Amino acid sequence: MEKEAGEPETGLGGDEEERNAEEPVVSLAEVLAENEELEKEARAVLGGSDHERCSYSQGAVKRQALYACSTCTPPGEEPAGICLACSYECHGTHKLFELYTKRNFRCDCGNSKFKNLQCKLLPEKANVNPNKYNDNFYGLYCVCKRPYPDPEDEIPDEMIQCIVCEDWFHGRHLGAVPPDSGDFHEMVCQACMDRCPFLWAYASQLAVPTVTKVTLATEDGVVLNVEENEDVKKENGADHQVKTEEEKLVQNNEPSTSSASTCKLPTAKNEASTCKLQELQAKQYLKKNTATFWPHTWRSKLCTCRECVKMYSDLDIPFLTDECDTVLAYENKGTRDQEADRRDPLMDTLSSMDRVQQVELICEYNDLKTELKDYLRRFADEGTVVKREDIQQFFEEFQSRKRRRTDRMQYYCS
Ligand SMILES: [Zn+2]
Ligand SMILES: [Zn+2]
Ligand SMILES: [Zn+2]
Ligand SMILES: [Zn+2]
Ligand SMILES: [Zn+2]
Ligand SMILES: [Zn+2]
Repeated sequence: MEKEAGEPETGLGGDEEERNAEEPVVSLAEVLAENEELEKEARAVLGGSDHERCSYSQGAVKRQALYACSTCTPPGEEPAGICLACSYECHGTHKLFELYTKRNFRCDCGNSKFKNLQCKLLPEKANVNPNKYNDNFYGLYCVCKRPYPDPEDEIPDEMIQCIVCEDWFHGRHLGAVPPDSGDFHEMVCQACMDRCPFLWAYASQLAVPTVTKVTLATEDGVVLNVEENEDVKKENGADHQVKTEEEKLVQNNEPSTSSASTCKLPTAKNEASTCKLQELQAKQYLKKNTATFWPHTWRSKLCTCRECVKMYSDLDIPFLTDECDTVLAYENKGTRDQEADRRDPLMDTLSSMDRVQQVELICEYNDLKTELKDYLRRFADEGTVVKREDIQQFFEEFQSRKRRRTDRMQYYCS
């Protein structure tokens, strides 16, 4: 996530040097998948943000790509965040922390937090913005407050962003083993679950089951790590639910007010719809000390009755019921915007050529694409490693085939 400024377009894959230093030993399928993934990721993160204009004039932007500059505001100084355009224009040569996207943030570039820098794009800014900051702005993440990537951490572990506090967490620091990334859509960290305990009532119905690591000490002092699966517990039924010291069984047997269940006043007709949360809270549910993982449409299932909306606002989480708040919604917008104005460089070149040149180029381009794909596929299928010589060999062969075709003055589009 951390990137060197100066080459922001490729900020997500800046370890080219390191890779070249040692013999590249990766299977081609991996390279292809990784490139596509990185490209997709970069497009998704950056696509929805303006790369030319400072976003300050838009106020607190609903969601945008955000950076922190450790050259301008190093740890110890006041934290500050800057927009995508400012990361290019005003901090191009600085050391930046890439924060991916954050919600409700107004660009700080050049305001009172910056001692020696004036924003080149929008120098007129208020002294401070009512933004929220955390350790991410100093390049530190998770409850363990480590940088990412972490040179001292040899355990490969994916970082997952909490959708409430927007900090990033190691999968192994969430109190439960995260489900496969394809199986859940959003995560709420342990601290945020503590702060918003009502979510536990929803979790029993909506959340993706996790495996909780329970440490059992036997009589002779041997520590056993037992992986306990929530699914199993559910099958066993509420009576047999295993209680660990981390889990609390919550049962709310408060009688519902008699007026709500029996007496409907004619004037209250429109408000007679029951509170989904109250219904859930009337049942038994588990409260644990773990993060929770949620499927795609879970936010739309949250109650939006007047009391619940007020509670969201009191807890400072009104965004929870806003489907447009999700990173996915932002990424989809970015991808849509980019597809709308992305121009194919081939098409640009073509329009400046005469017809014969056009045909030649198209044929050559298609040949190259197909042949390279076929060539690489063989490696991918065999799961073998592609070496630099292999790629070199391909281009040499391609050139000689092309020469042969050109000699015959014929062009085939294969
Ligand atoms: Zn800016
Ligand atoms: Zn800077
Ligand atoms: Zn700026
Ligand atoms: Zn951690
Ligand atoms: Zn959180
Ligand atoms: Zn409600």
